[in-house]
Amino acid sequence: MGGISIRLNSLFRRRRSFRGGLYLPVRRDLAVPRGIRDFPDPPVLCVPMIQHDGPAARIVVQVGQRVQAGQVIGRGEKPDSLDVHAPLAGKVVALESVDTVRQSDVPAVRIATAPPVAESSEPSMALASTAPLTIEQLAELADEAGLIDFGQSATPLGRRLRQAATERLNDLIINALDFEPEPDDRNDLLDTSLDTIISSAVRLRKTLKARRLWLLVDRYDPHRVRRCRAAATGKPVRVLGLPNKYPQTHPNLLTHAVTGQEPPYGSSPARIGAFVLAIEALLALENASLHRRPLTRRLVTVTGDAVRKKGRYLIPLGTPFADVLQHVGLTGPVLRLIEGPLLTGRAVASVESVVTRQTARLLAVGRDHDYLANPGPCVRCGRCQDDCPVGLDPRALLDAYERGQIEEALPLWPHACLECGLCSFVCPAELPLSEAAARLKYLIPLKVQW
Ligand code: SF4
Ligand code: SF4
Repeated sequence: MGGISIRLNSLFRRRRSFRGGLYLPVRRDLAVPRGIRDFPDPPVLCVPMIQHDGPAARIVVQVGQRVQAGQVIGRGEKPDSLDVHAPLAGKVVALESVDTVRQSDVPAVRIATAPPVAESSEPSMALASTAPLTIEQLAELADEAGLIDFGQSATPLGRRLRQAATERLNDLIINALDFEPEPDDRNDLLDTSLDTIISSAVRLRKTLKARRLWLLVDRYDPHRVRRCRAAATGKPVRVLGLPNKYPQTHPNLLTHAVTGQEPPYGSSPARIGAFVLAIEALLALENASLHRRPLTRRLVTVTGDAVRKKGRYLIPLGTPFADVLQHVGLTGPVLRLIEGPLLTGRAVASVESVVTRQTARLLAVGRDHDYLANPGPCVRCGRCQDDCPVGLDPRALLDAYERGQIEEALPLWPHACLECGLCSFVCPAELPLSEAAARLKYLIPLKVQW
């Protein structure tokens, strides 16, 4: 395969759609009320120095020091590390380590937020400016504000912008499709911030010098599509309604839906001149560039049958999950707490873990029902292969992984796996197929060149 450009054209059949995938059932039981609910300032924050896919920031405060909201407490000095800011004013009471859902023993700053300290009205970010920025300046600003792309792997937004700067961009694709049908967080954001989203997207297109600008919305809500088209009238934005077949929101599948082309095996949309950005990342970038605000809070959807006050809460980074559960109230014991979407979320080992930039959703399960897997023998139904959006054979990947045949799995194309979790979801034997595919992907070095 070396030296040969391998493309996945054969794996997709029609423009604006893809082979496999699934229309997920709408989980009304996970729906949350519209709008953002209040969240009180917690008494103590434990702010981790890693909240993304990259190295830790260096702690730049000391025990006993008072900090202002938005003040830098961790400096991202290595490539791909990001600055970390105090979400609230307070006093540093300890420098310690904390377990986040994705990593253990992460260096962290513990801040006692009471008694209240007068907050500075001065923004803390020096680079922020109302003047038009170059892509490189925007990338630097994104790092300084601690921004991620709000995608599955929480890539630093600055890294993605720098990557885009090296390519000739044809298409800037702003994604407002939800990852899963419920809770429909992006629809809610679209309803409340449509004009801001469109004006920010137009500005970003200018900075990135993209030829075309797209806003992708769910085709099955014609009222919302019409509203978006009306708001975009007279602006260089094409509103495109797409069927939200899971996992449509993967950047490579969105790029294919818009352009009819898909990125080469193992590469990103930038390789074919496309840049995909979720609307929450666009708004965070707008906040940083126009309002000098770093990312210090995360909009978290808290849902599940064990939750009394389901909703979307704007929660300070570093808030312990225990405080979140206490505020939303519980209907009974929590059997399992899951951070992230239903199909790809991670089990939370301890409620002492904290909210990070990566925490989009918390699902508190109080009953032993279909969120919990109970693996059995494969019944050879073939559903995993039929529904895989990139045409992999997840059962063969699991076999190879369980037998330790790591290198031998290369011809099964594990690097094409989107980590969407669909194979595990449809498997009647409830086998850990997607976990095996994802592990193989990271265990085998990518040997393909183009
Ligand atoms: S997790 Fe990977 S192997 Fe499984 S369905 Fe998704 S893309 Fe296919
Ligand atoms: S979906 Fe599950 S039971 Fe069916 S073939 Fe795949 S691994 Fe076997």
